[in-house]
Amino acid sequence: MIVINPPEITAQDEFSVISSIIEIDGKEERLWYKFPRKFQQFLVTENLDAFLVGILFFGLKSGKNITLKAPVSARLFYTLRHYLIPALTLANPEFYKIKIIAQKLNYEDLNTGKVAGTGLSCGIDSFATYYDHLKETGPYEINYFTFFNVGSHLDFGGEKARKIYQNRLKSVNEFALNEGKEVISVDSNLSEVLKINFQQTHSLRSISCVLHLQKLFKNYYYASAYRFDYFKLNPKDTSDFDLFNVQMLSTESTNFFASAAQYSRVERTLMVAEHPETYQKLDVCTNPSLQSDFINCSYCYKCLRSQLTLDIATKLDLYKDVFDISLYYKIKDQYIAQLLTKNKKSPLDIEVIEFLKLHKYKLSVNIYYYGVISWLNFHKKSLKNQLKNR
Ligand SMILES: [Zn+2]
Repeated sequence: MIVINPPEITAQDEFSVISSIIEIDGKEERLWYKFPRKFQQFLVTENLDAFLVGILFFGLKSGKNITLKAPVSARLFYTLRHYLIPALTLANPEFYKIKIIAQKLNYEDLNTGKVAGTGLSCGIDSFATYYDHLKETGPYEINYFTFFNVGSHLDFGGEKARKIYQNRLKSVNEFALNEGKEVISVDSNLSEVLKINFQQTHSLRSISCVLHLQKLFKNYYYASAYRFDYFKLNPKDTSDFDLFNVQMLSTESTNFFASAAQYSRVERTLMVAEHPETYQKLDVCTNPSLQSDFINCSYCYKCLRSQLTLDIATKLDLYKDVFDISLYYKIKDQYIAQLLTKNKKSPLDIEVIEFLKLHKYKLSVNIYYYGVISWLNFHKKSLKNQLKNR
């Protein structure tokens, strides 16, 4: 059994910390989220929505029911039980269909801020979401960016993840300042409490931070990783079906939208490259280093895919300060060969291959050479497996 106790707010220097004691089989652990003090007035103490969404995956994985010792949004309570928990357990048969035990439902709209926000990681999807909403007005206009330390900087948190988070936050703040917007940064020990792989859980982790700010955000755009038609229930990565997950986390106070889902990743990259303010800030890397001269490692799969897309569109030189372009040129042929010959291509791989074809990209002799090596390696492995299984 998991018990979530009523939230409490404490002051810590220039921050306000909202926390709840989480009891897991009688053992207590404090789950906390730290916000800039000026946003304390928008923190929700009436409901346990944020803590429930934050801890949900732990319940699904362990099979422990969750008891709430304070009210919960009536809408969220309804959607979790009827749609989200059934979908997540259908996607991943290792998850248990747990029960949420609520003592009181809250039907009230708590929102007073009437503004919109979105996360800013300075990656392609978050920039595309921002530029896609430039012309929105009223409660749909993006007034604030958010930036969270809930797992995207390293799966299981800790001090290294916190350092990477603080380093990236500097860059995010500079971009926001230039746009005349403010960043609401949120640190949390959610990763340390959850101890679950980030890819499986990232949308719920981030949205748990936003649910603390329901009084501020009427609308919140959660940048989707994929276009509408790539929708798939994937046990390893919830972003494949975020279109559904994100909507199911809306409450009476805040609406969540899976944004930029109308664009392919190639279209988003081209949209972002139209904005010079991204040339010094683009950060797509899954392998960041605190020592490097460049924001991006330039050789992880996300760095390579983004560089190749920009290269085909003849825009890569614009990003010479954030990518080690000389390194990219050294490994580009090998990367293209792998992309073309790999057995299981993701929708994003197929997009880049289509983009290569569209631009009639000339394959060098090296690409054919690496392609043959890659093909032979694959068949050697497959032959070995067949012999092993005889
Ligand atoms: Zn990288």
